[in-house]
Amino acid sequence: MTSKVETKQFQAETRKVLDIVINSLYTERDIFVRELISNAADALEKFRHLSLTEQPEFDAHMPLEINIDCDDKKHTLTITDTGIGMTAEELETNLGTIAHSGSGNFLEELAEAAQKDVNLIGQFGVGFYSAFMAAEKVTVQTRSWDGSDGHEWQSDGGGTYTISPCDGLHRGTKIIIELKEDAHEYGQKFTLERIIKQYSTFIPFPVKVEGKKVNTVEAIWTRSKSEISEEEYTEFYKFIGNAIDEPTYRLHFAADAPLAINALLFVPKENFESMGMGRMQPGVNLYCQKVLIDQHSENILPEWLRFVKGVVDSEDLPLNISRQSLQDNALVMKLRRVITKRFLKFLAEEAKKDADKYQEFWKTFGIFLKEGVTTDFEFQAELAKLLRFESSAAEPGVMISLAEYVERMKEDQDKIYYINGPSRVAIENGPYVEMFTKREVEILYTLEPIDDFVLSHLGEFDGKKLVSADQADLRLPETTDNADAEKEDQPKDSLPEEIQQSLCKWMKEILGEKVKEVKPSTRLVDSPAMIVNVDGMMTSSMERIMMAQGAPEEQLAMGGKKDMEINPASPLIKKLADLRVKNQDFAKDVVQQIFDNAMIQAGLLVDPQQMVKRNYRILEQMAEEK
Ligand code: ADP
Ligand code: MG
Repeated sequence: MTSKVETKQFQAETRKVLDIVINSLYTERDIFVRELISNAADALEKFRHLSLTEQPEFDAHMPLEINIDCDDKKHTLTITDTGIGMTAEELETNLGTIAHSGSGNFLEELAEAAQKDVNLIGQFGVGFYSAFMAAEKVTVQTRSWDGSDGHEWQSDGGGTYTISPCDGLHRGTKIIIELKEDAHEYGQKFTLERIIKQYSTFIPFPVKVEGKKVNTVEAIWTRSKSEISEEEYTEFYKFIGNAIDEPTYRLHFAADAPLAINALLFVPKENFESMGMGRMQPGVNLYCQKVLIDQHSENILPEWLRFVKGVVDSEDLPLNISRQSLQDNALVMKLRRVITKRFLKFLAEEAKKDADKYQEFWKTFGIFLKEGVTTDFEFQAELAKLLRFESSAAEPGVMISLAEYVERMKEDQDKIYYINGPSRVAIENGPYVEMFTKREVEILYTLEPIDDFVLSHLGEFDGKKLVSADQADLRLPETTDNADAEKEDQPKDSLPEEIQQSLCKWMKEILGEKVKEVKPSTRLVDSPAMIVNVDGMMTSSMERIMMAQGAPEEQLAMGGKKDMEINPASPLIKKLADLRVKNQDFAKDVVQQIFDNAMIQAGLLVDPQQMVKRNYRILEQMAEEK
């Protein structure tokens, strides 16, 4: 037999790759196991495909599987597959030359990466040759599916390899690795099991270590929907999501154009981020042909979709793509766009199908979609359709979409109104909705602190401006082009026009810098006064948040210019006009108190000590009067 051993030179490029691989101190060398298993899986896949057309006869009965055996005493690792195998010629071309001929500058990039950071070379998927990171010597015994004679390939990763005939082989390939001294761990069962669980669980063939199947879950995302049971889906979700709950939503889709995509995405039941467990890491893994490319990928979905769990698999991605280059890879960016749009469309469809279920989802995960609106311009249009808010026209606890609002808008209404408050009750008892209630104009209630930022970022929906009801100069429908209606708004027993004007002027003098202006209101029905914002971009709720976050005073003063509107028909305001003449000091205290009350109703801070002292002065005065 030895007479038939042929010694051959590696192709020059292959030698360079081997040099880089062997001479790099390599910390991520686990991935050589992944590479060899993925090759075995490829070979099995090829055989499976071939069986569909060729009816192979030789060793046709052998089960399609990958067997891994290890010997911790002899320090060897053996990976056996029953795949397509290789003929002598194939052995020579496949394992003597570089298989990555497709990517021209692969070698330069690899060398560069190895120089910069040795850890980078693991991302390159150097394929079969990565075995030499851990191997003293590699032996490949293989026999092609066509039943031609088997052969053995051997090399120590130096300049040469040998090929010789090998008898008694079955169909497929066996790779025997004699481990380097510093790589003995790969001769241990638990190391191998760990690596397989991490990288190759979804290999669609049984992977057995010492005869025991270790990959529990298949690549179910590549199977057709009709073949997958609910239980299988859930089991898969629990596995990749590391979850114990059941998924709320599931999107399984395949596309051929514009990109080849198999995606299986889940929405969990729980939002652990809101449960104070810290920021979630992304939950979607990126695969290429069932081989894990990027676990917890930060690139395949936007950051604000980090609550989504699942798998995206695209055959269009090169398996040897580096994790670093995923970030600015045009293909990955396109993939991300397509999948994100598809997922948001899916949510919109689900919302239509079952509004109650969607509302539950919204309550748990809406915060992420809101984050999307405020941080990512790209998907704003899609996200806007998914937003939900309570509304004056809906039952308490029922949330509606902006589209529903627009559908119900009055004929002459061209804006979407909203108002923030700590609760529905607080809003409905506050001054801002009085005229909305009277005119039966629907208004959205934004009950979360972030909401006003979201709506202000959005600016408009369906061509309608989004306007906070605490903005100054708000003109509700029917007042815009109908002067008569406006007059009707001011009840007959309002203060006369000149007194209104002089009262406002005087109140402004007392309040000084606290307000920009004091004006008679056309909107108030019962309340004596309210605070409105002059800057259209700023709402009181936004100001409150910025204040809580310690925004500098100047910034707030810039954005938070406010007016106070007073109600000329309110008994208190009318009496104030008299009091101003009778008892100036008392009247001044009342003005300050009205302002503070209006601030509190706007959810803004007042100086409690001053307010309480003044309040006592007022009470004292009252007690005297009686
Ligand atoms: P790639 O998998 O990207 O093609 P590799 O360096 O991993 O590159 O493998 C080179 C080639 O060797 C493969 O394309 C395949 O033709 C062949 N090969 C490797 N492992 C096996 C195997 N277990 N069975 C059959 N062919 C294999
Ligand atoms: Mg490979």
